[in-house]
Amino acid sequence: MRGMNRDITRRDFLNGTLLGSGALLLGSASPSQLFAQAVTTPSGDDWTGYGGVGDYANSNGNTNAVLEAGHQIRDGLFESLPATAIDTGETYDCVVVGGGISGLAAALIFRRKAGEGKTCLVLDNHPIFGGEAKRNEFLVDGQRLIGHQGSALFWPPYPHSFIARFYESIGLKVPRLEYQKWAGPAPEIPLTRTPYLGSAPYGLYFGKKFGQPQGVWVTDLKKLEGAPISAKTREELVRSQSDQAAQKPLYRGDAISRRLDTITLEEHLMEKYGISRETVRTFLSDEGGGFGLGPDALSGYTGYAFDGLGPIPDEGTEMFPDGNSGIARLIAKTLIPESIAGSPSLEDVCRNHVNFAALDRAGAAARIRLDSTAVWVKHDGDPAKSESVTIAYTRGGKTYRVKARSVVMAGGSWTTRHVVRDLPDDRKEAYSQFYRSPAMVANVAVRNWRFLYKMGISGCQWFEGVGSYLQVRKLALCGADSPTIGPDSPVVLAIKVLYPYPGKTAEQQGHMGRGEMISTPFREYERQIRQQFTEMFGRSGFDAARDIAGIILNRWGHAYASPAPGFYFGKDGKPAPGELLRAAPFGRIAFANTDLSGMPDHKSSIIEADRAVEQLLNLVLAD
Ligand SMILES: Cc1cc2nc3c(=O)[nH]c(=O)nc-3n(C[C@H](O)[C@H](O)[C@H](O)COP(=O)(O)OP(=O)(O)OC[C@H]3O[C@@H](n4cnc5c(N)ncnc54)[C@H](O)[C@@H]3O)c2cc1C
Repeated sequence: MRGMNRDITRRDFLNGTLLGSGALLLGSASPSQLFAQAVTTPSGDDWTGYGGVGDYANSNGNTNAVLEAGHQIRDGLFESLPATAIDTGETYDCVVVGGGISGLAAALIFRRKAGEGKTCLVLDNHPIFGGEAKRNEFLVDGQRLIGHQGSALFWPPYPHSFIARFYESIGLKVPRLEYQKWAGPAPEIPLTRTPYLGSAPYGLYFGKKFGQPQGVWVTDLKKLEGAPISAKTREELVRSQSDQAAQKPLYRGDAISRRLDTITLEEHLMEKYGISRETVRTFLSDEGGGFGLGPDALSGYTGYAFDGLGPIPDEGTEMFPDGNSGIARLIAKTLIPESIAGSPSLEDVCRNHVNFAALDRAGAAARIRLDSTAVWVKHDGDPAKSESVTIAYTRGGKTYRVKARSVVMAGGSWTTRHVVRDLPDDRKEAYSQFYRSPAMVANVAVRNWRFLYKMGISGCQWFEGVGSYLQVRKLALCGADSPTIGPDSPVVLAIKVLYPYPGKTAEQQGHMGRGEMISTPFREYERQIRQQFTEMFGRSGFDAARDIAGIILNRWGHAYASPAPGFYFGKDGKPAPGELLRAAPFGRIAFANTDLSGMPDHKSSIIEADRAVEQLLNLVLAD
């Protein structure tokens, strides 16, 4: 509905969708109907479920092992360095904790700035690097299908900017991609280049929650003709689609942005559009979608925070077939050239396999050690004077320790605040203001999307049940198996599931959402998704048993940074928590990760990495 005639913008990315997600599934098809010819045989345990094929087959979202190690930290198992920790005898010039885009970028920037002779080790807790920037792969009837696990989009940067130069240095010289063309012979309908609703035609589905047991589809998105909602709600929704003239911040830190940071996004939306809280909560809860929670818990400035990173306005959005996994792979390939076979081209990095044996080779100047959770990080002696830091990590049930002359904590607030054992009170206090919310990306491989095509749409939105929107996208050719796409093409439909509990604090919502996400078995989510699809698309020819080829769940316990009011510019006379952590390193430890900026954008991961490395260089270069 928003932006019917244009491609997705930063704002659409924030919204994800026009309207909100419901909480409960009100299903009609019986489990026996749904599983009569189940095709998605789980390959993992009851919780993990099916993992797909390829490099990421055993790394879908947070794995069981990642959760277990995280819970051991939470439960105080590593308050002191275990006497049994095995000393590997290694000392690195820099150890980077966290192998997402921020950690990988920190390692690469460190190697470039500190010089060839300096050594660097990246520790990451997952079976593959990338953090949120990972992918899923399916093999459907001989065709390789690919989807993103979390971080998806990138925007062409200003030429000559730091990010443009960084992109260029990892092989992303022309950050504009070519995409699949329409296959025919069926008449073409527009598709987007991203999994978000945008310029392509889509429909709204109103089900039982709106007194419509059979479901009602609305495709007149301008007037919402036929929507089973009151005239007042319709008016409010239509108004909320107009580009209201509310004053927008001109730059991060101006008076408008500071005021917005004192109220919630919900209050801002009510004020901006003159709409009720109920309308926001029922239909606009995804306005905070880029931040993981509903607008009631977020700072009003989250509505504009993306603008701070300056992608060229109206330049459109780009997406690798596997989302920003493409960027993570390019960085890894540049850091360790043998890590992925072939040249450092987009094509090779997208299509070739990771050479896991090359990631952590003895004697190499740059190493990435996977399946390794840092549990204890502490200066050896007084942080102001110490010459080194000890880092302990768990791997395969054992604890190891290494030493480093400098450390970049790039894993994110939710572990950094616990594992840096000598973290001073001011940094602890700052980290206590960070909330990371859960999110699940369910990738559903379907053998065709004719059931949408028949309705003249390529995407849709719904307001109850699991998830709230989906969109068929054209894939960039650098990783697509087929150069064309049509209604009979197999595709991956990404369903993002958020866990808002309006009225609760950000912390409470995160806690409750994680509980719900983690306690739900794979089979139950699979059942809900099949039921949702059957309800919505059964009448246009969808058959779950025939059409769904596979489902992969990517559950992220601490996915989105969810800035509450005061996060960006501080409150009660105190500085913004991110500013305090960025201002200076703590001894030999500096802080990175996207969450410091309050912008869920990989560019901020790279910018924070660069700043953190700069802060440590003199410690490493001095002798
Ligand atoms: C669902 C979702 C969609 C998104 N979509 C986009 C998008 O379209 N475009 C965009 O630019 N950004 C997007 N983002 C934002 C995304 O977070 C960033 O783009 C980027 O991928 C974050 O990189 P990072 O390295 O800062 O953090 P992360 O990706 O979180 O990486 C941190 C890594 O460190 C690991 N780690 C944490 N603690 C430890 C420890 N103690 N020991 C070892 N390892 C540890 C983590 O498990 C993880 O692997 C999205 C985020 C989410 C959650």
